[in-house]
Amino acid sequence: MRTFLIAGNWKMNAGPAEAKQLATDIVNNWKGKTFSSEALLCPPFVSITTLAECFSETAFKTGAQNVHTEDNGAFTGEISTSMLKDAGCEYVIIGHSERREYFHEDDELVARKTKKVIDDGLKAILCVGEKLEQRKSGDHENVVKTQVNAVLDHLGKDVSDKLVIAYEPVWAIGTGETATPGQAQQMHQYIRGLIAEKWGAKSGDSVRILYGGSMKPGNAKELLSQKDVDGGLIGGASLEAGSYSEILEIADSI
Ligand code: PEP
Repeated sequence: MRTFLIAGNWKMNAGPAEAKQLATDIVNNWKGKTFSSEALLCPPFVSITTLAECFSETAFKTGAQNVHTEDNGAFTGEISTSMLKDAGCEYVIIGHSERREYFHEDDELVARKTKKVIDDGLKAILCVGEKLEQRKSGDHENVVKTQVNAVLDHLGKDVSDKLVIAYEPVWAIGTGETATPGQAQQMHQYIRGLIAEKWGAKSGDSVRILYGGSMKPGNAKELLSQKDVDGGLIGGASLEAGSYSEILEIADSI
């Protein structure tokens, strides 16, 4: 049985003061209670240390939304893996569709970033997913296959314990539109097959595959109940302490 990972992506929301309030509210929601999932929140870079401090005596974990491939040097505006570890991160989201779209991150760069994260002892949440026209034309599996294999080929060796994949159909992110549980299950199973092809059935079975795209308390149960859905990458709903906590509760009830 895989442990659910319930990960929040705060995107460019919640500077230190707001992040402290939100994190405190989440922690307070769980005072005297426990959860069995892994709970992770990924704030903007400037709020990482604040979150790590708020979570220090709790089971909540802190992650980042991006990282650079170099250790340090003349890369104005960038952040390295060692800095993220120093700040208290355990996970890094890589290749989110917003980074692919607005910051022109291609499969090659996403692959290099994923390798860097894993080589340096962090865990990577690799985001993949098709655009609406690619789903409509029936190309969604091919698109996801290319995105996944670009990274697996670059990683070479089996690191399935340090890699999480988030299937996020681009048409479902921030739109209120959600993949049906059946669409999510079908793609998750397909991705598991791609991992099994490269690293064997055991790794295919054990790697965690999250669903992302307008997950909220109202649809979380159906999505998380799918056999190959091992958690969620949650944007909007993770910015409300109540909604995020509710999704954690739902995961526990499955
Ligand atoms: C995301 O940011 O990865 C995401 C899935 O956002 P939302 O839940 O708001 O669709």
